[in-house]
Amino acid sequence: GTPLLQVRDLHVEFHTRDGVVKAVNGVNYSVSAGETLAVLGESGSGKSVTAQAIMGILDMPPAKIPRGEIRFRGEDMLTMSADARRRLRGAKIAMIFQDALSSLNPVLTVGYQLGEMFRVHQGLSKKAALAKAVDLMDRVKIPAARSRAGDYPHQFSGGMRQRIMIAMALALEPDLIIADEPTTALDVTVQAQVMDLLAELQAEYHMGLILITHDLGVVADVADKIAVMYAGRIVETAPVHELYRNPAHPYTRGLLDSIPRLDHKGQELYAIKGLPPNLLNVPQGCAFHPRCPKAQDLCRTDTPALHTLGEGRRSACHFWKETVNG
Ligand code: SF4
Ligand code: MG
Repeated sequence: GTPLLQVRDLHVEFHTRDGVVKAVNGVNYSVSAGETLAVLGESGSGKSVTAQAIMGILDMPPAKIPRGEIRFRGEDMLTMSADARRRLRGAKIAMIFQDALSSLNPVLTVGYQLGEMFRVHQGLSKKAALAKAVDLMDRVKIPAARSRAGDYPHQFSGGMRQRIMIAMALALEPDLIIADEPTTALDVTVQAQVMDLLAELQAEYHMGLILITHDLGVVADVADKIAVMYAGRIVETAPVHELYRNPAHPYTRGLLDSIPRLDHKGQELYAIKGLPPNLLNVPQGCAFHPRCPKAQDLCRTDTPALHTLGEGRRSACHFWKETVNG
């Protein structure tokens, strides 16, 4: 059937005093109900900007969307009426950010803030809304939810706050959740717990989930498929297990080699040399070539197309065949 969300040939620019920053440069991806797509990349790769375009945060200058489509259940959000778009983004698509403390109101209790979703969107009474808030806090496994509903955000640990953000996102039972670095601010053990919870709820509610992260390690167990971004483009897509087993792009290979592994204690971690490019001045040819250990002359002049290797597998490397077999 039709995917829940389909991003097609999306371009996003920022018009700054220094020039036009091409933050997203022809991105395509899709996610279906019940599916988890991880979008992976360093900061500045365009992964968050793509999400912001979906959420409609970029509908005004200096941002500009010169080209592309963002289809929700087949309908292009970029061309539908502002009203229709707002309705979708309020109830059908929810977003979870990295920093719960700045997303929650510090002077309102957590129960009140969660309840507000039901008072505003469903017209529930204060009492009924609070009951639903407590129910949600239970679902995201906050111990003693009933009594904790009266606490303020700062009275919760970082992990518990992130659970509250998840509860907030789930409140209206959206079809799609976009989570931008949802666990980055947390300790490693808490990261895993929050990620597991998110995966569990995603399956239970049969939602689509887009997980944006710079950390390949945290999405391994929960994602169905991965899109790797670099300098505003997708450089590789694959079902998650295939990507881990056999990456088809040198950048992905570098990311994999830089994940800390328990069985390699004491061994020095590989790090991709250099930095991502300045988007005002993206290198000619393959944008990754200054950092790529496999770069050849062709890479400095010709931009690689996104080659299809197989079902759901694509690589934007001239030498993907060598990479996949190397
Ligand atoms: Fe490296 Fe060339 Fe492939 Fe780019 S196209 S990733 S520079 S080998
Ligand atoms: Mg970001």
